[in-house]
Amino acid sequence: IPIKRIRNFSIIAHVDHGKSTLADRILELTGAIPRNSASQILDSLQVERERGITVKAQTASIFYTYKNDEYLLNLIDTPGHVDFSNEVSRSLEVCDGVILLVDACHGVQAQTVANYYMAKKRNLDVIPVLNKIDIKHANPEGVCRDLQNLFGINPNSVLKISAKLGTGVGTVLDAVIERIKPPDVNREPPFRGLIFDSWFDKYRGALNLIYVLNGSLKLGQDIQSIITKKSYPVKGISILLPKESKTEEISAGQVGLISCNMRNSKESIIGDTIHLKNENVEAAVRFQPQQPMVYAGVYPADQSKHVALRSAIDKLVLNDSAVTVKVDSSPALGQGWRLGFLGLLHMEVFCQRLEQEHGTEPIITAPSVTYRIVLKNPKLIKQMGKETLEISNAALFPEPLNVKEYYEPLVKGTIITPTAYLGQIISLCVERRGIQESSTNIDNDRILMKYILPLSEIILDFNDHLKSISSGYASFNYEDHGYHLTNIVRLDIHLNGRPVEEFCRIVHVSKANAVAREMVAKLLELIPRQMVQIAIQGCVNGKVLARETIKAYRKDVTAKLYGGDVTRRMKLLRQQSEGKKKMRMFANIRVPHETFINVLKR
Ligand code: GDP
Ligand code: MG
Repeated sequence: IPIKRIRNFSIIAHVDHGKSTLADRILELTGAIPRNSASQILDSLQVERERGITVKAQTASIFYTYKNDEYLLNLIDTPGHVDFSNEVSRSLEVCDGVILLVDACHGVQAQTVANYYMAKKRNLDVIPVLNKIDIKHANPEGVCRDLQNLFGINPNSVLKISAKLGTGVGTVLDAVIERIKPPDVNREPPFRGLIFDSWFDKYRGALNLIYVLNGSLKLGQDIQSIITKKSYPVKGISILLPKESKTEEISAGQVGLISCNMRNSKESIIGDTIHLKNENVEAAVRFQPQQPMVYAGVYPADQSKHVALRSAIDKLVLNDSAVTVKVDSSPALGQGWRLGFLGLLHMEVFCQRLEQEHGTEPIITAPSVTYRIVLKNPKLIKQMGKETLEISNAALFPEPLNVKEYYEPLVKGTIITPTAYLGQIISLCVERRGIQESSTNIDNDRILMKYILPLSEIILDFNDHLKSISSGYASFNYEDHGYHLTNIVRLDIHLNGRPVEEFCRIVHVSKANAVAREMVAKLLELIPRQMVQIAIQGCVNGKVLARETIKAYRKDVTAKLYGGDVTRRMKLLRQQSEGKKKMRMFANIRVPHETFINVLKR
């Protein structure tokens, strides 16, 4: 297929505006999958199915006949949640245009705005499409007006479809061909390809998804990495239709899956340029990897599982290049790793995938942002070899006596909300130490606000709160906004006087009391009663801010229980025995495995 009959595009939108559903309809219309297939066919991971969200960008190559010519379309379905924006930006690097999908009922949301600018910054052709016009209270005219006000989009260029019913999907494909430019590549040698995704296959090792920038690649040729300089024979080439379909050759403008005996993420590197062995080509420097926003310690439940966990992390990182990995160790938990994530949902999804796809059960420590701590003790500065420490592990928090200044990361948040919820949302932002920067009317009843907020205040549950106070109508997105002077302390949790490292965390001074009370109350609920009395304390600098006690069982404990209480106790005992293997012991106190995760959730 000639280059001028290739189109590479992504579907981008806010969460739940219908990207994956539109991808289904496009695949059906072009005959790639049978009609009435399972829905959201490209969401193939178990975690995606269970949560009903896309977390991985997925590519499908499809053939479409337009005015008697056959076109090759490479479609990428992307995730909508801000935690996975890395997947979106990576996908856009191999696209020439996007379908910007907007829910005709909910209208432009925070992610829509972010996505639009992401596409514009890269000079991509944007096809605005309103989805869900089948819904009664859809307001396509209103949403068109917003698109015009916000982005200067001509209402006449906006397509209106229902991905659910399939209405208008053909017009979308025609627009892809008419409005998106063909790839700016050429078929002359030398061959040059960009690795933009990879994953691990049990039998074939690391598989690379590549976008061909120049020339072509044939089965059996030897390719070389520009970064590692290592070379590999090409064992397999396939096109994703979206099922793998073997082929002999791929050429510039195409996307293909290459297997070549690469083993792990050190060999198969997202953003690497590959070329034919011993040829000289320029690197396609296209990726700016995103910096992680939150860090958490990940440890094997016991050290005998260390090697298995390491191998699982390595395989999964291959498929999630946004995660950073550093070796770490802890007196309580032994050898492990400190992983960097783009947000809490990203962390949860990664850990769920470690369990589901790789059968491991790691212990996760409290997630934290990275603080910058400037020391003042000359002896300590000399010992550390630097004046400023970057700390995300509360266990490494220095003695306050030795510290000159603390700095914490900020974000610039965009909130879009109907005016009805304005008051409550502003209170939420104030409570989270936010400072309003601007506020603009989008239309009569919707407002776009910009807030500067500490990252630590939003990673855990800001979005959930925003959704619940606005009945789901407000939306939130954020970007990095540098570091700012702050005042923080380490909150320790003690069980019978012994600090438990997994629970200790860094908090803002103004929040120490509240967080201490909250953590202690939660642990009171989560730690089962046992043979000994347990004192739970939340302390800062040795001072107890909150305290609860779990009473020990007494001999006559069951005698005092009636009816429902007995079954509850039986259930508790059963859960305890099931969880026995997954307990951690602190002196003589057992803490169930789930407690470590549950205590983090609000
Ligand atoms: P994504 O997060 O953008 O990928 O959204 P999904 O494709 O997963 O769709 C989110 C929800 O919206 C699903 O429950 C879909 O069934 C529903 N949906 C998608 N398109 C339409 C549509 O055109 N009309 C209606 N009524 N619902 C739709
Ligand atoms: Mg989706």
